[in-house]
This record gives sequence, C-alpha cells and structure tokens, in this order.
Amino acid sequence: MQSKYCGLHAMKVKTRLTKLDPYPSRQINVKEENALEDKCKVIAVANQKGGVGKTTTAVNLGVALGHMGKNVLLIDADPQGSLTRSCAIYDPDELEITLSELMASEMTGEDKEYILNKNAIKHFETIDLIPSNISLSGTETALFNCMSRESVLKRTIEPLRKHYDVILIDCMPSLGMMTINALVAADSVIIPCEPSFLSVKGLDLLLHSISRVKRQINPKLKIDGVLMTMVDSRTNNARDITAALRNAMGININVFNIEIPRSVRATECPNAGESIFVHDPGGKVATAYAQLAKEVTGLERKAQVRPRPYGIR
Ligand code: ADP
Ligand code: MG
Repeated sequence: MQSKYCGLHAMKVKTRLTKLDPYPSRQINVKEENALEDKCKVIAVANQKGGVGKTTTAVNLGVALGHMGKNVLLIDADPQGSLTRSCAIYDPDELEITLSELMASEMTGEDKEYILNKNAIKHFETIDLIPSNISLSGTETALFNCMSRESVLKRTIEPLRKHYDVILIDCMPSLGMMTINALVAADSVIIPCEPSFLSVKGLDLLLHSISRVKRQINPKLKIDGVLMTMVDSRTNNARDITAALRNAMGININVFNIEIPRSVRATECPNAGESIFVHDPGGKVATAYAQLAKEVTGLERKAQVRPRPYGIR
C-alpha cells in the first residue's frame, strides 16, 4: 500500500476550498483554516472490555461514513494492531511509520509533518488509516515520563484535523494511558457493548473514567452513545439485557436505536481484508452499520439545531 499523504490531502483541501470559495485563486486565510479545523469530529471507540466489537465498529462505521462522502481517518490505538490487520495490512510489524513513531516525534519535539509525509497514512476502501503494531505498547510506557502525558495523542493528530471530517480512534481494551489519551483527543465517545451481563456491568467503570477525563482535562467530551453489538435477537437474554440497559441509561446517556446483529459474515471480514460493505453488501450487518453512520451524523445535526427564540428565523 502506498501513502499519498502529500498529494491526496493537498487535493482534498483544495477541493474543499473550491467548495467554500467561488474564487479558487484566493489564498487560504487564517479564518478559513480555522473553519476547516472546526469541521472535524474526533470520535473514540472505547470499552475496556475486549471482544465487544470496537475494531469492527471503527472499520465499518468509518467505511460507511466514507460512503456518505465524509473524509474519514481511522487511528489504530491498540498495540495488537487488529484494526490495521482488518484494513488488509497483514504484517503491521513490517511498517516503518506507525502511530508509535508519530507519538514519539510529538514527545521528542521532532518535525511531525516530516514524519507524516513519510508514508505514514495508509488507504483502505473509502478511508485513510494510521496503523499500529506492537511498538505502541512501548509508547504507552514512555508516556509516563513525558510532560502533559494525557494529551500527546491530541497534539499528535492536531495537524490532521483540518484534512478530515471524522477521525475515529480504535481504543485498546484497557483504561490505561493510551485510552486516556484517546479520550482527551476526542470530541465524543462511542461505546460498543455486547448484550451480556458482564459487559453491561463493566460499563460503570468506563463511564466513571469518561466523567473523570471530562471533569479534569477535556470538558467538551460527549458520549455519542452506547452501541449494542453482536445482538442475537432470537435469544431472550439479549433482548432482556438490551431493554434493561436502555432503561438504566434513561435520558442521560444515548443508546443508539440501531443494534448490530450477530452474523458469521462479520467474523469473516478481518481475514478477507474487507469491510462488511465489500464482504457482504446488502447483508444485515452492512445495513446496520450504514444506519449507524446516519445516526452518528444525525447527532451532529441535532446538536446544531439551536432553539430560535424571539421569532428569529
Ligand atoms: P474488540 O475490538 O472490542 O476487541 P472486535 O471488533 O475485534 O472487538 O470483535 C471481536 C470478535 O467478534 C471478532 O472476531 C469479530 O470478527 C467478531 N465480531 C464483531 N462484530 C460481530 C458481529 N456483528 N457478528 C459476529 N461477530 C462479530
Ligand atoms: Mg479491537
């Protein structure tokens, strides 16, 4: 896979400027640059429990948003490199530049743009990807000796925000420093959750960490919603747990209307190196992830609709 970071992103920015600006020859000014940056939404896909569908959600939600015309970047923030492998990079340990090198350059004050230009961004179907491999576990250890260690990932991705509409961070199954970095870098969180007693019980711990990050470091952090994954609607257990969770969360925390059904076709995707939209287009999981993408973009629109008092149009 070949990165076309330079050319591609210059092109994307140019395209957006052309859309924004009827006079394309005009130079980009600071105000326009900020407007582009503000458009980006960073979403962490997090749950400290493993095997609940974080990586599957990051890939398929990303590809679905890409199909809707969004510029999407996925970030693999798990040293296991599952997201990287799911995006058809089968030997992540061979990669020269990964998230680990980018974060190291932020920590040491090296030129990030230089590293980004060095084949850092990979491409998969409709999305871009910053891959990871086992070296990210060393980065997590290095974070402990670093200044402002909670915001290294946030600072690392800052120069990329202006190129994307959505950046999805696939978190590792822990509440360690890398996940805290993802929550600090994010504008919002999506929490995939399997309809099992232990998964639902484990949500308390995650919600506690999210509220701590929100209180202490990132006050604008929002919870987009809890996403029920691998739902087998034929079983009473799944139905009961999902209903109980919706009840318990009440109006305080959104539980997405769409539930991702369990399907063998979804399990086959990483091995096939395809998203569900290529592997089983029109299947129930692809339909569900397309619906999720609509719900996620709908949240944005809902947030933008402000009450208009005093007869303001
Ligand atoms: P996590 O990132 O939370 O560890 P994964 O996304 O890797 O979870 O999913 C764990 C396992 O469940 C993987 O083998 C994956 O293929 C499988 N899986 C994910 N979503 C589904 C689904 N909707 N139906 C069936 N299997 C699924
Ligand atoms: Mg994973």
